[in-house]
Amino acid sequence: MHQPFSDVTSKAGLLAPDTTGMNFYRADPALADLLRIHLPDALFRHIEPHLDRLGALAGGPLDECARLADRHTPVLHQRDRFGRDVQTIEYHPAYRELERAAFGEFGIHAMSIRKGILGWPDKYPVTAKHAFTFLFNQAEFGLGCPINVTDGCAKLLANFGSDALKAKYLDSLTQTDMAKLTQGGQFMTEKEGGSDVGTLTTTAVQEGDHWRLSGEKWFCSNADAKVVMLLARPEGAPPGTRGIGLFLMPRFLDDGSQNHYRIVRLKDKLGTRSMASGEIKLEGAMAYAVGKLDRGFVQMAEMVNSSRLSNGVKSTALMRRAYHDAMTVAKNRVVFGNRIVDLPLGRRQLMKIGLATEQALSMSFLTADAMDRAEAGSQDAAALLRILTPTLKFRATRDARKVCGDALEMRGGIGYIEEFATARLLRDAHLGSIWEGTGNIVALDALKRAVGRHGAESALAADLHARLDDSAKVPQAWRERLRSLTDRAVGLAREVAGQTDNEAEARRATSLLYHVASAVQLAWEAQRIDEMRGDARRLLLSRLVIDHRVLPGDPFRLAENRTQDAIATLLLSDRPAGMVEVGELIAAA
Ligand SMILES: Cc1cc2nc3c(=O)[nH]c(=O)nc-3n(C[C@H](O)[C@H](O)[C@H](O)COP(=O)(O)OP(=O)(O)OC[C@H]3O[C@@H](n4cnc5c(N)ncnc54)[C@H](O)[C@@H]3O)c2cc1C
Repeated sequence: MHQPFSDVTSKAGLLAPDTTGMNFYRADPALADLLRIHLPDALFRHIEPHLDRLGALAGGPLDECARLADRHTPVLHQRDRFGRDVQTIEYHPAYRELERAAFGEFGIHAMSIRKGILGWPDKYPVTAKHAFTFLFNQAEFGLGCPINVTDGCAKLLANFGSDALKAKYLDSLTQTDMAKLTQGGQFMTEKEGGSDVGTLTTTAVQEGDHWRLSGEKWFCSNADAKVVMLLARPEGAPPGTRGIGLFLMPRFLDDGSQNHYRIVRLKDKLGTRSMASGEIKLEGAMAYAVGKLDRGFVQMAEMVNSSRLSNGVKSTALMRRAYHDAMTVAKNRVVFGNRIVDLPLGRRQLMKIGLATEQALSMSFLTADAMDRAEAGSQDAAALLRILTPTLKFRATRDARKVCGDALEMRGGIGYIEEFATARLLRDAHLGSIWEGTGNIVALDALKRAVGRHGAESALAADLHARLDDSAKVPQAWRERLRSLTDRAVGLAREVAGQTDNEAEARRATSLLYHVASAVQLAWEAQRIDEMRGDARRLLLSRLVIDHRVLPGDPFRLAENRTQDAIATLLLSDRPAGMVEVGELIAAA
């Protein structure tokens, strides 16, 4: 699970071990394993040196930039130095450096839209793109939002925009030349409702080939984005989500002047402090309709869904970073004459951090892979994606809150101090489960819509059974156990979806789908990694998911500690273990 980090040799380093200088790609063999499984060999070989470079930057200079940008937050200026009413947001140079790396050097925002990024002749599959998302966000989570919404804007424009709009904005949204790049934004939320989008009050009035928008947007991340996708109600349209249109609003008009909207103020946020989120007043802002006017909400929902996947990946990144941090501390700090990792409770705490992290990694790539197959035309994959997306978003973002808190505690008192990354990780982690749909909203989406309306749980059940069929080297008894739990989790989801008085169970049922799906996926991956390099340890994680997250035992009975500890020791070591050894531990547990 983790390769040793041996750079911590100084006295200060031993007192307060840190990940500074760690290469987050090299320190993460599971990431390379999963990419080898999911990507064609030629593509994996092409991106690996770039991932290696990003891994080194994220563990070093970008991490330092993230720390600085978090402390020196953006400042809104109302006028320029000549006294003209031109609004600008001033960013710390460290934030600009983060932008240059993400947009300019790696082009993460454009990878799945524009051909030729990083020398690859085609567009990248989402799975490959999110390997970059995953590494970058281990250093900087705040800029993760602008990267993702720029990507989302370009995708919306490519899918639904007119030829004229595409000609005007698509190239700059997908540029890696920083002088030509325009970043995107996505403004939906109003005071009346973020979850209840149908209550929005922003209006659109047609004026020739464009529209004029009036109203107020309450949460606008990347507030000074040059191209914004937003929702508004055209004059005379019906109430609710069916009356909402999608619009593209440029920051600047064709004559170079600022469009008619004002950033009233920037939010003073708990996390993502490096990035500017503002409140915006629309005062007759000029905008263009995108796609069909009465399909605005449905079109925007596409962007929200790909953002929810990105959110799951980014929360996984926070967890992986927290895990690296906790492992570095546990392997280097000595308490009562022992390294923390050599103490049973230390190992148990690390396993809790590691288990949720590995689950989220597996589920992120399972979901990304479903998106790639859905975009290639598979109906089954589209149904699978429909249920996996909210399920991942729900559980991974919630787990990130706890994992980052537990990793902070592993560091002791200084974990709580802002000089180390742990405090920032914890603050950032609390946002993942709020934006792009709160926990309740995504759990209801998974259960009421994906299951209740679309029957997408059948695709999930079929996919998980097929993976078990395809894992003949996994001990038979374990496969049968997972089969039965898959059917029970899917059965419960159907029951909850079918009855209105069961709505309060939506979160529990979504968690169960997540845990069971991740246990199956971990077993499926174990066989493949065992075949590649003789390491089946992910099967032990599959077992731990079921034991600790699906079927917690009798709280008054002592656990079988010797086997549990043997599993933890093996997982926390760098020693690979093949299917036979792992199978014996599974049987004994
Ligand atoms: C830092 C930050 C940046 C943001 N950036 C953007 C942005 O760029 N663009 C944008 O459009 N939005 C943005 N948002 C807004 C965010 O998406 C919303 O805050 C979020 O969707 C919740 O909406 P709300 O704040 O109106 O809360 P509400 O919808 O009022 O929710 C309040 C509570 O009610 C619960 N609730 C709602 N409906 C139900 C239900 N049916 N059953 C049970 N419980 C329910 C919710 O779970 C929540 O706990 C941002 C938010 C933050 C914090």
